[in-house]
Amino acid sequence: MDLDLKFQNPFVDQLPGDGESRNFVRLVSDSCYSLVEPTATSKPSLISYSQELAELLGVSPERIGTETFTEVFAGNRRVSGSTPYAMCYGGHQFGHWAGQLGDGRAITLGEIEGKDGLSYALQLKGSGLTPYSRTADGLAVLRSSLREFVCSEAMHYLRVPTTRALSLIRTGDQVVRDMFYDGNPKLETGAIVCRVAPTFLRFGSFEIFAAQRNIEVLKQLADFTIRTQFPSIKADGSPDSYCQWFREVLDRTAYLMAEWWRVGFVHGVMNTDNMSITGLTIDYGPYGWLEDFDLGWTPNTTDAQTKRYTFGKQPQIAKWNLLQLANVLCLLVNEPRPLQEALDEYDQVFETYYSEEIRCKLGLPELRDDDTRLVQELYSLFEVIEIDMTLFFRFLANITSDSSSDQDLLQAVQPALYNPDEISREGRARLENWLTTYTTSLRKQHQDPEVRVKLMNNNNPLYVPRNYLAQLAIDDADTGDYAFLSQWMEVLKNPYQEQPGMEKFAAKRPDWARTRAGCSMLSCSS
Ligand code: AMP
Ligand code: MG
Repeated sequence: MDLDLKFQNPFVDQLPGDGESRNFVRLVSDSCYSLVEPTATSKPSLISYSQELAELLGVSPERIGTETFTEVFAGNRRVSGSTPYAMCYGGHQFGHWAGQLGDGRAITLGEIEGKDGLSYALQLKGSGLTPYSRTADGLAVLRSSLREFVCSEAMHYLRVPTTRALSLIRTGDQVVRDMFYDGNPKLETGAIVCRVAPTFLRFGSFEIFAAQRNIEVLKQLADFTIRTQFPSIKADGSPDSYCQWFREVLDRTAYLMAEWWRVGFVHGVMNTDNMSITGLTIDYGPYGWLEDFDLGWTPNTTDAQTKRYTFGKQPQIAKWNLLQLANVLCLLVNEPRPLQEALDEYDQVFETYYSEEIRCKLGLPELRDDDTRLVQELYSLFEVIEIDMTLFFRFLANITSDSSSDQDLLQAVQPALYNPDEISREGRARLENWLTTYTTSLRKQHQDPEVRVKLMNNNNPLYVPRNYLAQLAIDDADTGDYAFLSQWMEVLKNPYQEQPGMEKFAAKRPDWARTRAGCSMLSCSS
C-alpha cells in the first residue's frame, strides 16, 4: 500500500552528486548533494498534518493521516521512485564565512508535481545523521518542530512567501538537548517535520562552489536553478541571464523583507545559509513575532549582545546577504557592474514594496508626503510607548474619520497598550495627536470608510502565531494533548478574519510570558 506519490528526482538526475555512498560526517567537494537514507524512528505517531497540502501533492485521499502516511513522513518507509538526498551548502553565519554546512538533519525525499502543475520538494527535518551533520546528531525536538510546523503554515495563510509543512510527527525517540547551553542537558521529545517548497536552495548553496573555486558546478547549479525556478529568464548560460537572475532574487528578497515588516516577523538567524534563493521564509529556528513594537528586538539569545538580526535591521541584513551572493555571481559574469547597479537599487526596491504595504496597513488611498511623516511619527511613537503591533493596526480600523474627540480615538486603540496606566503624559499626548492627524489624512483623501476597513483588515492580521501561544501548544503537545494545537491551526488559516469565540488566539502577551523562555527569548538549540 502506497501513498500514490509520484516522485521525480531532477536535482539528483541533473546535478553532480557525491560519489561516496557511505553515511559519515565529512567534507564533500564538487557535489550538490549526497545520497542518504533517513534513519528509522522507533515509534512514530502523527501529531498534525495539512490536509490541503496533502491534497495538493496528490496523496491518495484515503491514505491521508493514516499509518502509512506517518511511516512515510517519519522516514520509516521508502516510497518507490524517491531518491533521498542531503544538500551540500555553505554560508556566512553572523557575518563570517563558516565553510561547509549543508543539510545536517534534513533529507529531501524528492520532487512531486502538485495538482497546480508546480513542482514541490518534500524534505524531512530531524530524520538523522547525514554527511553534513558536523558535530550534531541530525535530530530535532518537538518544541522547535512544532514551532516550524505552525509558523510556516501560518505564514502561508498570511500570504507571506514561505516553505510549508505537510506533517508533524513524534518519533518515539528521545533527544538530548542543553536548551540554555548552560551545562544542563535534558532528554526531550524527538519530532520530524515534513517541509514542502519548490526548492530548498539557499544563497549558501551557491557560495560553497565559489569557496571551492568550482566554477563549473556553480554554473551548472545556477543554470539548473534559473531553468526550474525562474521560468521568465532564459537559462542560456550568458552573463546577462545571471544578472537578470540576480535582479529577480533581489526583488523577491526585498519583497519578503517588506512582508516580514508588514506582519511583524523576526527571523532571528538570517545567515546566508538560511536565505532562500527563491525568496521564501526558510529555516524557522529562534524566530519571533513582535508583540510590543521594538525595532531593536531579536528573539535569538545567541544574538542578544550583537543584535545583528533584530526586527529593524532585517532589510539591511538581507542586502548584505545579497552582496555575498553578488560576489559569487561575479565569477560567472565578466562585468560585475550590473550586479552592483542592482544592489544600489535595493533600498529603493524595498522602500517601494514597504510603502505600498504601510499604505494598506493605514487604509489610505495613497501615501502623500504628509503621510510619510505620519508613518515616521508612528514609528518614533512606538519606541516610547509599549504597544502591541498586531492589535494596534487591527484596532486602528475601528476609528472613523469623524470620531468626535481625542478621547474616542484613544479608546479605540487603548486595548493594544501593554501598560495603559503607566503611559507617560507625553506619550499619551503624542498618541492622541497622531490619531487626530491620521483622521485628518483620511478626510483629506476622502477615503471611503468601507473600502478602508476592508483594505486594513485584509493587510493587518488579527491572528499571528504569537510566541507565548506556541509555548502553550508545546506544553500541551509534550504531554500528548494536541487539542490546543489543532484548534489554533484552524484559526491561523484565516488570520485576517475575526473568528467569534477565538479571542484567546488574538490576545496580547500576558505578563507571565514576558520573561519565560520560549516566549520572549529563544536559544538556537533545537
Ligand atoms: P541553522 O543556522 O540552525 O539553520 O543551522 C546551521 C547548520 O547546522 C545547518 O547546516 C544545519 O543543517 C546544521 N544543524 C543544525 N542543527 C543540527 C542537528 N541537530 N544535527 C545536525 N545538523 C544540524
Ligand atoms: Mg539552516
